[in-house]
Amino acid sequence: MRDDFPGLANNWHYLDTAATAQKPQAVIDAMVQAMGRDYATVHRGVYARSAEMTQAYETARRKVAEFIGGREDEVVFTRGATEAINLVAQTWGLANLKAGDRILLSTLEHHSNIVPWQMLAARTGVEIDVCPLTADGRIDLDAAEAMLAPAHKLVALAHVSNVLGSVLDAPRAVRLAHAVGAKILLDGCQAVPRLALDVAALDCDFYAFSAHKLYGPTGIGVLWARADILAAMPPWQGGGAMIDRVSFAGTTFAPPPQRFEAGTPAIVEAIALGAAVDYVSAIGLTAIHAHETALVTALRDELRRMNDVTLFGPEDSAGIVSFALEGVHPHDLGTILDEEGVAIRAGHHCAQPLMEHLGVPATARASFGLYSDDSDIAALLRGIERTRRIFG
Ligand code: PMP
Repeated sequence: MRDDFPGLANNWHYLDTAATAQKPQAVIDAMVQAMGRDYATVHRGVYARSAEMTQAYETARRKVAEFIGGREDEVVFTRGATEAINLVAQTWGLANLKAGDRILLSTLEHHSNIVPWQMLAARTGVEIDVCPLTADGRIDLDAAEAMLAPAHKLVALAHVSNVLGSVLDAPRAVRLAHAVGAKILLDGCQAVPRLALDVAALDCDFYAFSAHKLYGPTGIGVLWARADILAAMPPWQGGGAMIDRVSFAGTTFAPPPQRFEAGTPAIVEAIALGAAVDYVSAIGLTAIHAHETALVTALRDELRRMNDVTLFGPEDSAGIVSFALEGVHPHDLGTILDEEGVAIRAGHHCAQPLMEHLGVPATARASFGLYSDDSDIAALLRGIERTRRIFG
């Protein structure tokens, strides 16, 4: 598989896939072709090339819908997961939430699933509650069950933690939210590239993710929302393509998903996302998950044997291992590893409340992708050994 990824040439040990995945040649080729030979705008042109481009763009939407188990008209293309969550906060949130209502988040959320809700709270007077974690770093759904009340109108949780790799018991989270009449949004950034998903079977209300973590391009992501919820949501950004009819007497809006895609969309990126979905589907998420799980187990086993390493997160993490090396700042570790051709992430991973909970300013994080293998783990372990020598 590694040969499919030009970004991994020269034996680079890329262990930062949770930040962004390397791209297979098939995705790069799809982008080049869409931006070159096939390029034209969508939804407007009367000429054949534009009609073909429109078809390719809408085919990408269909591929995404099939991949996640949703309907085509439930897939809104956004700039990424961040924009998808902001869209929900500023349309559904502003229209449906008022002072006295509550939102339940968790300690391990990425900033993009915290800050949009805080901004909404500042405008509406909505209160935010934070569900704690279990000792091994999962969202504690027993605690959530005890906390949830009819005042909760929304539960918004990470399906997989970008720091700890902990996997949410999503079906239970959905049941708990719905039991009090709340909607549930899942931040699927780290789950979509790792776990098979069926949003309809899961019965969640909103699901957000970014293409660039699914081996696709940056600049595009997905908000999936149930058709009846999308249909009742007011528009967000105004402009071309999202309208039905515009006049100075008043404007009417297009049905979803177009209502939420103002302006010329990320045409090339959408088509390349479709190619990424094809690529991942051909391998299969079951195989990808099994492969990454084996790597996580192998790495955790090695790190656990070292008495100067602290491991964070549960044993059955999905593709992500966060750890600390005693007496070495994660940034120093990351810098020395870089000299060895190993790329890890060191920092707060846009999850500062989680860092506070763990009692550390930062962690070192190794994250796997479908192209990762034992040689990446071996290189990481050699780098840790060298770091230890340097720091005496
Ligand atoms: N949520 C999680 C769990 C993530 O890992 C990320 C990306 N690190 C995001 C949200 C935000 O994604 P993006 O920056 O692509 O919008």
